[in-house]
Amino acid sequence: MNRFIKYNQLTITMTTVKILDIKKLTHDVKQYKVEKPSGFEFTPGQATEVAINKSKWKEEKRPFTFTSLPEEDQLEFVIKSYHDHDGVTNQLDQLKPGEELLIDEAWGAIQYKGKGVFIAGGAGITPFIAIIKSLINKGELAGNSLFFANKTKKDVILENYFRENLGDNFISILDEEKAEGHENGRVDEEFLKKHVSDFSQHFYVCGPDPMVKALSKTLEKLGANPDAITFEK
Ligand SMILES: Cc1cc2nc3c(=O)[nH]c(=O)nc-3n(C[C@H](O)[C@H](O)[C@H](O)COP(=O)(O)OP(=O)(O)OC[C@H]3O[C@@H](n4cnc5c(N)ncnc54)[C@H](O)[C@@H]3O)c2cc1C
Repeated sequence: MNRFIKYNQLTITMTTVKILDIKKLTHDVKQYKVEKPSGFEFTPGQATEVAINKSKWKEEKRPFTFTSLPEEDQLEFVIKSYHDHDGVTNQLDQLKPGEELLIDEAWGAIQYKGKGVFIAGGAGITPFIAIIKSLINKGELAGNSLFFANKTKKDVILENYFRENLGDNFISILDEEKAEGHENGRVDEEFLKKHVSDFSQHFYVCGPDPMVKALSKTLEKLGANPDAITFEK
């Protein structure tokens, strides 16, 4: 089951896992359920390096976040595919159940540290899918909020799931479309002042690099403690 791959002068152990099921979530995002190697461990919010087990693609590793819970029997990823060039996500979009991925050990900075505000941009939602799922399972979701920024409403991943579980504590914001039930614009100082009453709580931010950098500065300006802000791009 294990294979060794030469990568950057290092020999890294990758594990082969079969794809069990693929489900379309949005026009460019799919959920992949894959086999879980026995004894495989991770915490909600962590990611791993993934490659496709085909001769041309084995050494093309990209990071993706687990959206399943550690106690589940299968691993799950939610992956946005880019079709503007033939990269790994373009190839992933063409895979079928029965084909194989290679995965590495779990790593990553995002981990739940206490009640707070999750702020995600696009596919940056994935660590929060796992964390929110785990809070729901433990009955500890109350008091947490999610601000989810996307371009248009067709880009919003698992919108119904977040609305059902978070109610008014879920706010979707779109910057390229005006739509009922969604705010228009970006998560910026004005938006945060409008929707956050307590800046002493935890903030968890994940999304494109410019969004993460801008929000880091804005949150600190508004009084958030830098030690209570968790980032990952
Ligand atoms: C810790 C971590 C966790 C992540 N978790 C997830 C997750 O759970 N789900 C998810 O969907 N994503 C996740 N990502 C992002 C994901 O890793 C990237 O989307 C993925 O690596 C892209 O791989 P690729 O081979 O398709 O694109 P790459 O070839 O790596 O290209 C990346 C970017 O460059 C552009 N680009 C590169 N080359 C060209 C070219 N020749 N022409 C045009 N454009 C080009 C692409 O448009 C794309 O925006 C995560 C990232 C990190 C760092």
